[in-house]
Amino acid sequence: MPDPDASRPERWPDISFEDRMATTVFDVHERAHIDVDSSVCDGCSTQRCVVVCPANLFVPTAEGGIVFNYEQCFECGACYLVCNEEGAITWTYPEGGHGVVFRRS
Ligand code: SF4
Ligand code: SF4
Repeated sequence: MPDPDASRPERWPDISFEDRMATTVFDVHERAHIDVDSSVCDGCSTQRCVVVCPANLFVPTAEGGIVFNYEQCFECGACYLVCNEEGAITWTYPEGGHGVVFRRS
């Protein structure tokens, strides 16, 4: 019987969150390149940023708000794309070559 997986493209290997984070280094700039207005987030019913951020930088609070830390940001832009509340996220790249540095393991 033919192998049903034979014609499928090769999968990316499964990788744990810790291993994923370990493949990067962060040259953190003192100025946050992403600002999150928590007063806007307080009225957000979707909190899509929590689901989409690959670095788990958006943390929901028990009161329904969001705590955000920019320091281990992959600069993927996904949070900005999915956020449905105007003014909640102000997004730029880090200054002067700072930010994430991807490397091979
Ligand atoms: S950043 Fe946007 S998606 Fe995330 S909680 Fe705030 S308003 Fe909602
Ligand atoms: S740019 Fe990507 S990694 Fe950075 S906070 Fe937004 S979703 Fe997370």
